[in-house]
Amino acid sequence: MSSGTPRADLAELERAALGEALARLGYPPFRARQIFGWMYRRGVVDVEAMANLPQALRSTLRSTFGFSTPRTFSRERSTDGTEKFLLELADGRRIESVFIPDTPVNTFCVSTQVGCAMACAFCLTGKMGLMRNLTAGEIVGQVRVLADALSLRDKPFNIVLMGMGEPLHNYDETMKALRLLADEEGFALPPRRVTLSTVGLLPALERLAREAIMPNLAISLHAPTDEQRGTLVPINRKYGIADIIEACRRFPLKKRARITFEYVLLAGVNDHPDDARRLSRLLAGVKSKVNLIPLNAAAGIPFDRPADDAIDRFARILAERGLTVSVRKSRGRDIRAACGQLIVEGQGRSPGQQLAAMAFGD
Ligand code: SAH
Repeated sequence: MSSGTPRADLAELERAALGEALARLGYPPFRARQIFGWMYRRGVVDVEAMANLPQALRSTLRSTFGFSTPRTFSRERSTDGTEKFLLELADGRRIESVFIPDTPVNTFCVSTQVGCAMACAFCLTGKMGLMRNLTAGEIVGQVRVLADALSLRDKPFNIVLMGMGEPLHNYDETMKALRLLADEEGFALPPRRVTLSTVGLLPALERLAREAIMPNLAISLHAPTDEQRGTLVPINRKYGIADIIEACRRFPLKKRARITFEYVLLAGVNDHPDDARRLSRLLAGVKSKVNLIPLNAAAGIPFDRPADDAIDRFARILAERGLTVSVRKSRGRDIRAACGQLIVEGQGRSPGQQLAAMAFGD
């Protein structure tokens, strides 16, 4: 291999692609199975430790491939057990991933982009703008790092694509990550353990409906009218509510499966009883459940969290109209790990420069 060619990264290869690369080097496909087992089942990053591979193959792997893993830059634990990981990528960019214990299953909240382009009015990540997409290897890498750090590799866990970024704005790498996670020689994570949360980028949503690997779907709705939603979720001016709901109606759901509609409650903005009634009419006949998320307030976010009785009243109106509704218990607010609180500052600077960690206090 010429010195100018970047080495292929094992973390970015699906098993079939790894098999093809190994075949070109004269090795049979079962070697790819073995390597996947080491990388994903056992969490081994050093090819020298892959004991059942012939020495010649180990040497070839070392000289032909790299294997990048996000580095844990810092780790913070909330009083409620939630843990926020600040991870550094190969180019020095930083992202956050959150571990949420026992809800009732252990859950990893994973990022799909560095920053986000959607600029939702109440979300801190949106303030960063989009720095870049994550690769599939970096998305899966977060799972590898958290599973190892928490000794959860052999226990069942769920994944929510609700960290930094808009997963459908990084469609190909996100879907590749889901295929990597599902590989039966690796994590063998069933797609029903994954929830993809999106603002509802319509063309990507329609593409998702045709995928072989189908995660659970959560739509960040946040308002029952285009007028309201357009001010909170700017992309709504391009892909409006009626089209998103129509796409949801057509979305192929397994028996008993439902689409989650997330609704951030903002005091005096979208928490009026009329909003609840409009929301219930909008979702009538959609196989849905509503997840109310009382705003996680932060400096720089020009909204307030509604009082508890306003939250209860909103939830009750939906429930009385036959909707399944839950109120998200925000976890990790004391360490700014809750929804919409993930922000990494100083991303515009070179890795060598000092990096301000988390700037916003509650
Ligand atoms: N981009 C995707 C996934 C990331 S956000 C999406 O928008 O769905 C995951 C959820 O947290 C979204 O529903 C988002 O709207 C919500 N959220 C963002 N900021 C929040 C805040 N300050 N308080 C509560 N929830 C917030």
